[in-house]
Amino acid sequence: MRKLFSAVHQLPIKWKLTIWSSLLLFLLFAAYNAVQYTFIEKWMIQQEKIGTRQNMNEILNYFLENEFSFKESDMPYIRGFLEKVNHQNQSIRVLDDKGRPIVVVSNRVPNEWIDGDPLSAPEKTGGLYFKDRLLIMRSPLTIFEFNGTVEIVKNNEDFVQLINAFSRVMLVCGFGAIIISGVGGRLLARQLLKPLQSMADAIRKIKQKGLHERVLVNNNHDEISTLMKMFNEMMDQVERSFQQQRQFVEDASHELRTPIAIIEGHLSLLQRWGKKDPAILEESLDISIQELARLKGLVQELLALTRAEEQTTGEGVRKAKPDQVVLHVMKHIAAVYPSFQLETELVPLTGTMIEISEGHLEQIMLIVLDNAMKYSMENKRIRIKGSVLDRHASIEITDSGIGIPETDLPYVMDRFYRVDKARSREQGGNGLGLSIAKRLVERYNGAISIRSKENEGTTVTVSFPVLPP
Ligand code: ADP
Repeated sequence: MRKLFSAVHQLPIKWKLTIWSSLLLFLLFAAYNAVQYTFIEKWMIQQEKIGTRQNMNEILNYFLENEFSFKESDMPYIRGFLEKVNHQNQSIRVLDDKGRPIVVVSNRVPNEWIDGDPLSAPEKTGGLYFKDRLLIMRSPLTIFEFNGTVEIVKNNEDFVQLINAFSRVMLVCGFGAIIISGVGGRLLARQLLKPLQSMADAIRKIKQKGLHERVLVNNNHDEISTLMKMFNEMMDQVERSFQQQRQFVEDASHELRTPIAIIEGHLSLLQRWGKKDPAILEESLDISIQELARLKGLVQELLALTRAEEQTTGEGVRKAKPDQVVLHVMKHIAAVYPSFQLETELVPLTGTMIEISEGHLEQIMLIVLDNAMKYSMENKRIRIKGSVLDRHASIEITDSGIGIPETDLPYVMDRFYRVDKARSREQGGNGLGLSIAKRLVERYNGAISIRSKENEGTTVTVSFPVLPP
């Protein structure tokens, strides 16, 4: 049995569905039939017994009322009455105290069937019981000196035949049910597995032809179509992230190429002329060192970006007091850029806690403040304002610098995006700062947004959910 189960277990789903569904349907059908058969049989037997008992009572009453002494002269009356009350397939006999029949009335019950059941045993002189195809009821009868037995024998052949025919029909119907449920189960399984099959086909195609293949979704709005939609969405995501990855590698190598080309140019210049000309030597070495520093910075920023994208969990303390962190960064910046006028308004943030590591919040603040200073020109005023609204703490950094043109604004957080390539490069920008900040902020369920007007200034807002006290 266990072997059979494990064999079924290893079958393809379509066969499993077919087998289990037909088995289940068949069992249901068989159980229903068995219950029905038992009830009908019981009910019919009950009806037979009731009918026979009534018959017997009628006969006994008649004998007692008329006080027959079973003499020869009584016989025509008795026989007439018994013939009148006898049913089809039934015989009625009156037996004397020795068990010899005195009166016999019979309707299609052969005599030899009855004679084979002698009255010798005491229990057989009264009661109701079945013997082969016969239902036999006997009742003792005593009138004056007559001691005898009244016997009703019912031939149940028709009844047995009916029951047999009934069970045959049930058996045939049962086999019919197996076949129908098997075919039904098979069709059902095919219908159910069709979408899975098409998904498997799509996955095969993706393996052969590439990531742009998709599953054809049927619009049934059922679980399988949801699964297919999710699969397609996941494939969109995978394809997008592959493209992004490729774009990133292309952009990064493009960015790395410029400083490398510059260094290469100056080195060959040195090799040709620089050895003898101290002026060229000095200038080329200066430029090469500058470019190497830029290269180093770029590599560091690329690393920072990759780290910001990594979704690591359980990385130490993830709680920061935003006002404290901002003050710390400000102190640092004020020392490096003494010419800037920094205004802060952090009172609303007092006592607030947000879920981010202090190091990462510092990094975000440094990126935004560094930009504010880099792109400020003459007006060296920067305002930092904290606020709490709807369980979110926000920090706004506003400068009065050159601003960002409206057409560039949607892209400034993209990797390597710089509004004015030449100028940004002059100021040491690689176009990675804001994309690092954005990834860090999003990693802590925060949001970052930029408002800007060209030649008026820029406001960067970062906000994070406040931790419950
Ligand atoms: P970068 O390292 O070049 O500054 P970012 O990703 O930090 O790169 O910024 C992308 C671009 O957005 C910058 O090149 C600059 O043109 C523009 N930008 C960012 N912040 C400001 C700002 N405060 N004022 C004006 N322009 C800005």
